[in-house]
Amino acid sequence: MSPDFKPLHAETPTVRSEVLSRAAGRQIWLKLEALQPSGSFKLRGIGLAAREYARRGARRLVCSSGGNAGIAAALAGRQLGLPVVVVVPVSTADRARYLIAREGAQVIVHGESWHEANELAQSMLTPEDAFVHPFDDPLLWRGHATLIDEVVRSGVLPDAVVVAVGGGGLLCGVVQGLHAASWPAMPLIAVETEGAHSLASALAAGHVVELDQITSVATSLGAKAVCQQAFELCRTHPISSVVVPDRAAVRAARRFLDDHRLLTEAACGAALSLAYDRHAAIEAYASVLIIVCGGATTTAERLADLAAQLEVRDRG
Ligand SMILES: *Cc1c(COP(=O)(O)O)cnc(C)c1O
Repeated sequence: MSPDFKPLHAETPTVRSEVLSRAAGRQIWLKLEALQPSGSFKLRGIGLAAREYARRGARRLVCSSGGNAGIAAALAGRQLGLPVVVVVPVSTADRARYLIAREGAQVIVHGESWHEANELAQSMLTPEDAFVHPFDDPLLWRGHATLIDEVVRSGVLPDAVVVAVGGGGLLCGVVQGLHAASWPAMPLIAVETEGAHSLASALAAGHVVELDQITSVATSLGAKAVCQQAFELCRTHPISSVVVPDRAAVRAARRFLDDHRLLTEAACGAALSLAYDRHAAIEAYASVLIIVCGGATTTAERLADLAAQLEVRDRG
C-alpha cells in the first residue's frame, strides 16, 4: 500500500459506559463503530477491499447485500470514483434501498432472498468488475482488524471482547486484530440471535451448516451459514458462542438509544444485551469491551414497532 494510503473509514472512540458498567456490574468499554460514515463497521473492511480492487484495475463494484455491506460498498465506490451496483432481494427494507441509492449506487431488486439476489449479481460480473462480499473475504477481515489497533492505541486493555456474529467477517477481523495486538489469548464472546444462530449451529454440528431459514428480526445477523474461517477460528481461539432472544436484542438497542443517544440495529443490540442483562457469559471478566457494530437500516420508530410486535408474539 502506498505511504499516502488514507482509509475510507473513520477512527472511532473507545469509551467507558457508566450506564452499561452499572447495569453489568463490571467495567464496560464501547468501541463506537456506529459512528462510521456508513453507520457500521462494514466500511473498514469494504473500504479497504474496494480500494485494493480499484488498485488492481476494477472499474465497477458489484455487491449483493441489502444491508450495511451494500451501504458501505456504495459509499466506498463514490469516494473512489467507481460506479457501484447493489443487487438486493425484495425483502430488503425501503430504508436500506434508499440509503444505498442515496450514496449514488444503482439498486437492482431481484429475488425473494439474498441467495437469488446474489446469483444475479454473480451473473452480472465482467472482467472489469470486482465483487464485494459482505463477510467472506480476507481483505475485509484485514480492514475490520484495524478497530482493534485503535483500541490498543487508546490504552484500554479489556479482559474479553464481545462481537455480534452474522456471517462471521467481524469475528475474523477482530481475532486478526487481537493477534496483531499481541493479545492472542483474549477471550471473544460471539453473540447471535435465535433464528440467526448460524455459528452456534455450526459449533453444535462440528461443521459449518446452513440454517433452513432466518427468523430473527436482527436482519444484519441473517447469514444462513458462517464463513469457514469463522468456524475454524473457534477451534484455535478462545471463543464462546452465545444466543439471545430477539426481544433482548431489540430491548438493548432501544435502551442504548436513550442511554448513549446512538441509534443501532437489533444486530448490535444483541451484543449490548449481554451488559444490560448481566449475562452469565461476561461474569468471569472484570472489564469487557463491546464492539458497537452499529447498523444504519433501522429507525427509532422501527425499533419501537419491533418491540411491540415481539411482546405480542411472546404473549401469544
Ligand atoms: C454485518 C453486520 C453484523 C455481522 O457481521 P458479520 O461480519 O456478518 O458477522 C453485525 N452488525 C451489523 C450492524 C452489521 O452490519
